[in-house]
Amino acid sequence: MKGLQVHIDTHSGFCFGVVYAVEMAEEILDEQGHLYCLGDIVHNDEEVARLARRGLKIIDHGDLYGLRDEKVLIRAHGEPPATYELALKNNLTLIDASCPVVLKLQNRIKSSFDKKETIYIYGKHGHAEVIGLLGQTGNKAVVFQDISELDLDSLPRNLTLYSQTTKSTDKFYEINETLRKNGITVNTNDTICRQVSNRDKDLREFVRKYDKIVFVAGSKSSNGKVLFKACQESNPNTYFVSNPEQVDPSWFGQDESVGICGATSTPMWLMEQVKERILTL
Ligand code: SF4
Repeated sequence: MKGLQVHIDTHSGFCFGVVYAVEMAEEILDEQGHLYCLGDIVHNDEEVARLARRGLKIIDHGDLYGLRDEKVLIRAHGEPPATYELALKNNLTLIDASCPVVLKLQNRIKSSFDKKETIYIYGKHGHAEVIGLLGQTGNKAVVFQDISELDLDSLPRNLTLYSQTTKSTDKFYEINETLRKNGITVNTNDTICRQVSNRDKDLREFVRKYDKIVFVAGSKSSNGKVLFKACQESNPNTYFVSNPEQVDPSWFGQDESVGICGATSTPMWLMEQVKERILTL
């Protein structure tokens, strides 16, 4: 035995948007034993598998076209108006678990669009939340995930800037500065979710306290990638796992301290399983 001291970061784990969606799904699953969910309820394969065992069926937009008279959960990322229209047409009951923070952002973008503002969204191309945001503008807003995608000389002289909720605050303000320095008048809307941006700072503090860090997240989680990078910057001895089986005993020396933390999509039960596995080494 290596005599490791293992601690889980109590601030890690689901953000309130994901807790809300999972609780809503569990409630319906208790009542009717099955429920459709449009897209992964959370970017974590283990949590998706747990809910699948209880009757949750993940479907995509293609499946939605063929579905009739069922209940379908909208996950925390939200959906564009076209999804609500299709549900009405197919007599589907939507259980709307869109995160309140995302819904507020959708409304703000819609009202900017109604005022005929030129909208730019700093976000990941093709991400579900971004598709929902774009839908508020009839897909007319410009999405970019890096400032290098924009030709600064030909940009409109006045624009309204929004951000996907999970982007980095520092990068957002850097972009804002670059635009202003290039003579563009920017109506800046910092719409980054503090459940994510604050976590960055808290995590950096947490990981400095331990010899080794095991960061737990699904390989599809954007937020997981961002937070893992932040942990690695503050403690280079940080390892990424998606499940307990991926823990490699060679990472740890005798009597070391180990911190376990994760993304906003990582369930606490999974971090506990990782802890149990490390304690057996
Ligand atoms: S990260 Fe923030 S905006 Fe996104 S689901 Fe969680 S609480 Fe909502």
